[in-house]
Formats: sequence, C-alpha cells, structure tokens
Amino acid sequence: MTAATPELRCLNCDALPSTREMTDGWCESCGKRLPYSYASHAKETGPKTGPEVIHAAPSRWMLWSGVIGLILLTSGVLIAISVMG
Ligand SMILES: [Zn+2]
Repeated sequence: MTAATPELRCLNCDALPSTREMTDGWCESCGKRLPYSYASHAKETGPKTGPEVIHAAPSRWMLWSGVIGLILLTSGVLIAISVMG
C-alpha cells in the first residue's frame, strides 16, 4: 500500500500551485481561486518559510509600462530643456 499524496493541481488550469499560492488560496497561473482544502494541505506539508519564491520572467506589461514611463520622462525633460533654452 503506497501512501502517495495526490498532487494538488489547480482545477482551472491544471497548474501545480506552490505552497504560498495554496495558503493564499489563489492560483497565480490563471488567477482563479483554489479550493480551501488546498490551504489546509499546505499547512500540513510544512511551514517552509524559505526565501521568497523565484519569480518567473517579469510580465511584459510591467516591462513595457516601465519603458514607456522612461520614454515619457525623457521626452518631458527634453521638452523642458528646449523650452528653457
Ligand atoms: Zn490555475
């Protein structure tokens, strides 16, 4: 008899949620709610308060908003300089 723990997967996107995602109750892959039983399972499996989860590549929206913000800032400074000059 093997007491294999069934892998808890997200019901919506079939991703394997991390312990933190399970305790939070949200799947970060699809942004949908995970069943409450997952949270209790996460507590059982151990409070591994390790270093923060390694994030995958930052989302492109974050990157682009940063780039656009930088461009706007630079052009604003250039306009200010040209107006003053
Ligand atoms: Zn999901």
